[in-house]
Amino acid sequence: MSNPTKENILAALSKVQEPELHKDLVTLNMIRDVEIDGGKVKFTIMLTTPACPLRGSIESEAKQAAMSVGGVESVEIKMSSEVPNDGRMRGLVNVTIKNAIAVGSGKGGVGKSTVSVNLAVALAQSGARVGLMDADIYGPNIPTMMGIEKLPPPKGEKITPAKAYDVEVISMGLLVKPGQPLIWRGPMLNSAIRQFLSDVEWSDLDYLIVDLPPGTGDAALSLAQALPLSGAVIVTLPQLVSLEDATRGLMMFKQLEVPILGVIENMSYLDLPDGTRMDIFGSGGGVQLALGTQVPFLGKIPIDQNVRIGGDSGKPIVVSHPDSPVAVSLREIAEKVAAQISVAALGGSNELPINIVE
Ligand code: ADP
Repeated sequence: MSNPTKENILAALSKVQEPELHKDLVTLNMIRDVEIDGGKVKFTIMLTTPACPLRGSIESEAKQAAMSVGGVESVEIKMSSEVPNDGRMRGLVNVTIKNAIAVGSGKGGVGKSTVSVNLAVALAQSGARVGLMDADIYGPNIPTMMGIEKLPPPKGEKITPAKAYDVEVISMGLLVKPGQPLIWRGPMLNSAIRQFLSDVEWSDLDYLIVDLPPGTGDAALSLAQALPLSGAVIVTLPQLVSLEDATRGLMMFKQLEVPILGVIENMSYLDLPDGTRMDIFGSGGGVQLALGTQVPFLGKIPIDQNVRIGGDSGKPIVVSHPDSPVAVSLREIAEKVAAQISVAALGGSNELPINIVE
């Protein structure tokens, strides 16, 4: 039998779909470095995020497809990743950030900062390069949650971000003296946030997670406008009375034409030691918000006192209790957020597929 050619291999791989992006691996330019030596085939699959939960099935389907080509004796696949860039950041000079993801909420106290911190750390744990910008200028508590006390000394003209759990962090809380009141007016907010982008020595980041102020007031609005956001997630509680606030928060991003990556329901339930489950804050709010506004539902995060303990002691729960249901759920949400960013960047459309998972 004659030896396979590169064209034969690519033709076979063009039948393998990327399950999240709904296009084939060849069209998505995910097949790289094809090498053929007699019947031995080697290639690299370049995933669109290191936080890809489907890497195993993509690899085995690609292997099966390549093995089915006549003359192929063995297939060796290297899995790698390269996060796409939706181009929104490109207009900014000297900014090396591929995607900025806002975390917003309709009101305070729903766990927006907690989610921001754990999403950032979970993405970094998967191997992505991640930054975390605390833009919640009224209550900048990211430094406490990340266990950061001060910024490292600047190396040049620019501010060097702090680093914890492999995440680069900047916060107004690190730039002003503790206890000093933070009083902001619109134009100041705008220039502060621009400085957070251009005057901070970020490394080449795949994802910048931005913790926005809660609600839809002036601060949230001007910050969301000042940043070239690739997408936004909305954190809400399960209780139906939060629905109106959360809907307003979500509509703010829609009006600014920021793609909504999805809704996250926090403090969804409490698992009791006797095995029963208590809906402390009601139920169904997150799914209802997602359905009502036609955006994806990204998942539920249960209540666990270790979340608060971790937040207060500077050790996010995905680090302190990585096997807890809360951490598992936060990691799954981080994977979905990364997938939605890839869809938004490569799909060429702001219309994200809606898939409601209960
Ligand atoms: P926001 O940023 O929306 O104001 P925070 O992230 O600061 O909210 O969370 C408010 C409080 O609730 C914090 O003390 C935090 O530790 C706690 N918290 C958040 N999510 C959970 C959870 N899933 N289980 C238990 N406590 C939580």
